[in-house]
Amino acid sequence: MLRQFELVERVKSYDPTADEDGLNRAYVFAVKMHGSQKRESGDPYFSHPVEVAGILTEYKLDYATIVTALLHDTMEDTAASHEDIEKLFGSEVAFLVEGVTKLSKIQAQSEHNKQAENFRKLVLAMSEDIRVLLIKLADRLHNMRTLHFCKKEEKRLRIARETLDIYAPLAERLGMNKMKDELEDLAFQQLHPEAYQSIISRLNFLREKGGDLIERIVQQLEEDVREIGDDADVYGREKRPYSIWRKMQRQNISFEQICDIMAFRVVVPTVADCYHVLGIIHTKYPMIPGRYKDYISTPKSNGYQSLHTGVIGPVKQRIEVQIRTRDMHEVAELGVAAHWEYKQNMAPTVDGKKFRWMRELLDLLNDSSNSDEFLENTKISMYNDQIFCFTPKGDLFNLPKDATAIDFAYAVHSNVGDRCVGVKINGEIRPLRTILQNGDQVEILTSKTQTPSPEWERFVVTAKAKAAIRRFIRNQKRTQFTELGKSLIQNLYKENKVAFNDKEIEAVLTHFKKDSLDDLYVMMGEGIVLPSDVFYKIHPEKRSTLQRVVEIFKRKPNKINKSEKNNLIKGLVSGIALHYSRCCHPVPGDKIVGIVTTGKGVAIHKADCNMLKKYAHEPERWLDIEWNDNIDGVERLFPVRVRITVADKPNALATISTAVSKAGSNISHLFTTEKSTGFMELSMDVDIKNTAHLEEVIAALKALPVVVSLTKESN
Ligand code: MN
Repeated sequence: MLRQFELVERVKSYDPTADEDGLNRAYVFAVKMHGSQKRESGDPYFSHPVEVAGILTEYKLDYATIVTALLHDTMEDTAASHEDIEKLFGSEVAFLVEGVTKLSKIQAQSEHNKQAENFRKLVLAMSEDIRVLLIKLADRLHNMRTLHFCKKEEKRLRIARETLDIYAPLAERLGMNKMKDELEDLAFQQLHPEAYQSIISRLNFLREKGGDLIERIVQQLEEDVREIGDDADVYGREKRPYSIWRKMQRQNISFEQICDIMAFRVVVPTVADCYHVLGIIHTKYPMIPGRYKDYISTPKSNGYQSLHTGVIGPVKQRIEVQIRTRDMHEVAELGVAAHWEYKQNMAPTVDGKKFRWMRELLDLLNDSSNSDEFLENTKISMYNDQIFCFTPKGDLFNLPKDATAIDFAYAVHSNVGDRCVGVKINGEIRPLRTILQNGDQVEILTSKTQTPSPEWERFVVTAKAKAAIRRFIRNQKRTQFTELGKSLIQNLYKENKVAFNDKEIEAVLTHFKKDSLDDLYVMMGEGIVLPSDVFYKIHPEKRSTLQRVVEIFKRKPNKINKSEKNNLIKGLVSGIALHYSRCCHPVPGDKIVGIVTTGKGVAIHKADCNMLKKYAHEPERWLDIEWNDNIDGVERLFPVRVRITVADKPNALATISTAVSKAGSNISHLFTTEKSTGFMELSMDVDIKNTAHLEEVIAALKALPVVVSLTKESN
């Protein structure tokens, strides 16, 4: 453990103005307050804050940060109060200790799905003062270093996972690569002990076999770069176990297949030297294509700068070489802490250029609804194909990319999905089909009377939601077909003046190979079994009326056959059944073709409709047709279906219908496909004359402020 005077000396070495007395008092205060408390390792508790302070001195952090590190657990774990600390160490330290304490309290709060919540809090803490976060990171690093003392496996795994998911990416985001590397390796060791051990032992084996390989390469490289002067430092190291493992996972390769487990670093005085060294190395050693990266001209968003290249090195082995200046090296190791300005004022200063992302982040965070952006940038960079959203209670749900609010609802529970009527995303009412973003807080609004809409199936992405919607619709259809089938056969009974009796129908179930009455009704409703067949099976004596009965049944699907429609099209036999296909919604003015379909007469398609490919090999079905230009001098109108999202305002519908009528059209049919507080989705049929007229109507609608979006339903 770091001794009191050692700690003070370390701080004084980089900040001679630091208040020595304050540091001493803080050290003593921590020892006194933690008293006889023990760590799981058996060490006295106060060794922990002292070590945390020690870690932060490596980053040359300011006086207030070091004092806070010493005191960081006193407010939570001991009798010390905010007032005590403020009186003894001033308001800045008290504020920082409070910040760290708040973070820890939040962590302890919701055991369930605490990750997401922790993350939010970290983000918020960071927006207040980034030093709170740095102390928290050092706190976590020391806890990770001593994690093996923890006896509960479940707790160890949880902390390790959290470290890997949240703290390591945060450290990386802050450019603190050294800390990130150590956090990752410690977590990896806990989470995958066997993989960790196997990588370690293979590295040992290679080391024994290769002897002083790294040392030999370093010497060779030193010689190579001597021409730029004496002022170049060359370091060599093995890659870290976690980064080796990640590479094995990512590329699905074995340890033996990893060629460059050695990395070398050349640190030089100036940027010009960097490119000079790069030139030397590329001249002497064959470069591996695709491995050269220039982070000097294009720094990473966390401020990292270096040249990276891969070459077949001095001993004919693939090696990675990083070339950077001393300044860049300091930034790479220490990140944001390398830019600490602790002499002038105590507040953190963030180098405008290199840490622009952080300033932007801090701005973003002032608007708390945007903290998801941060979540996206750090943790989530590891899970590109997934998003994380949570309920208002902080329960975390992991969904595939492009998931909508409805997917979320079904992920919560199928009952929630079946009944969702609306959604609040980050407190704002949004349409149910909204695609969720990382970090969204999603509150599903439900209603007992709501049922899933078939429309939903088009935009949900999760299998669970799809299956649930289909199941519901199947059941619903079944109910409808049952009723339809039953009414069809009841009509037959009525027409034949026979009293309806379902016992009679039950008696013929086996003949139709059905298990239940409902099954047979469904079959009749769907038109698979003719009701007349069933009826005549039961009452063969009534067979004489067969023809009429079949007519009744057939009338149903042919409803669409209105004679006047035929007049609109030239080239058809008068009276033939026809319908305008729903795939392309042809309107006068479009080039059209007719397709003879089985059972439904002639389908009218636009000549360029994609569906026509289906009939390419059946020329006998194609009919040459065209629009009748002028029928009895009467202007004919065609319904075109548009899908429209409107703000749910009192006058919305009135505004829309006025606009439609002003454009010389008419709404012939209107229904809501989705309604949530704030928005309505409508399917609307507008009567139009031709394509030019359609464009006019659409333009008029789109110009309305209440219209959020509008698409023509087709293809
Ligand atoms: Mn602690």
